[in-house]
Amino acid sequence: MDLNPLSHSIVLSDVSRRHPNGTLAVHGVSLDVGPREFVSLVGPSGCGKSTLLRLIAGLDKPTAGHINSPALELGPAQTGFVFQDATLMPWANVFDNVALPLRLAGRSHADSRPAVEAVLRSVGLGDVESSYPRELSGGMRMRVSIARALVTEPRVLLMDEPFAALDEITRQRLNDDLQFWWHARGIALVFVTHSVFEAVYLSERVMVMAARPGRVVADIRIAQPCPRDASFRLTPGFSDACRAVSQALEQASAMPADGLS
Ligand code: ADP
Repeated sequence: MDLNPLSHSIVLSDVSRRHPNGTLAVHGVSLDVGPREFVSLVGPSGCGKSTLLRLIAGLDKPTAGHINSPALELGPAQTGFVFQDATLMPWANVFDNVALPLRLAGRSHADSRPAVEAVLRSVGLGDVESSYPRELSGGMRMRVSIARALVTEPRVLLMDEPFAALDEITRQRLNDDLQFWWHARGIALVFVTHSVFEAVYLSERVMVMAARPGRVVADIRIAQPCPRDASFRLTPGFSDACRAVSQALEQASAMPADGLS
């Protein structure tokens, strides 16, 4: 694997993270994500997917190995983070929720307006800036959360099971829109999901992880041009890729703990 940090947006070299209580959350992980690449992480619960996102974002530090990422080299504004829960401030309207990262960086309400309005329009929420989170559907709240992550125009978007709590139709619509936003913005995207179908539909590469300790056991390329649309789900390429990822996931789930954790 080419691990030249200049040619990649994110590079992890032999990274481990042992928590203070002794748990080895990830061990010896090496991976690279290109500047405009869409990579998914799949694996059983506890295999270290969230830990890897936190390390890439600079929210946690490795206990061994080395990480290059825009957040670590250029500052936290280079990374947007989206969680399964939209984590919006219930007392603030949509505008103020989305403006938060800019306000924290010292920009005034008025100065934040053009960027907030533009990002809200781009996620299809141009007309709800005065609404409060309780007035929005689950899908709309997730769109607000994504707008907040994109408002600083980061180079990297990290998403931790963002659509897991949404109904299937809303999830598929957000999958399609996410493809478009990612492609149009030219950012790197690292996406954690439990859904093999979602990982294959969205990603250029799917990394399969095993647990105890968390490690990458397969790196599967999905060789279909992006952005994709719903017709991809009906192709033999889609079913072949789903089968390959499912098999790797089954093997990963059956792997014995290697004694390190
Ligand atoms: P995943 O996202 O794949 O479910 P996590 O990255 O959340 O996995 O966790 C990986 C392992 O590290 C699990 O065994 C989890 O219990 C443990 N872990 C995560 N965070 C901490 C922490 N702050 N302290 C101790 N152990 C932790």
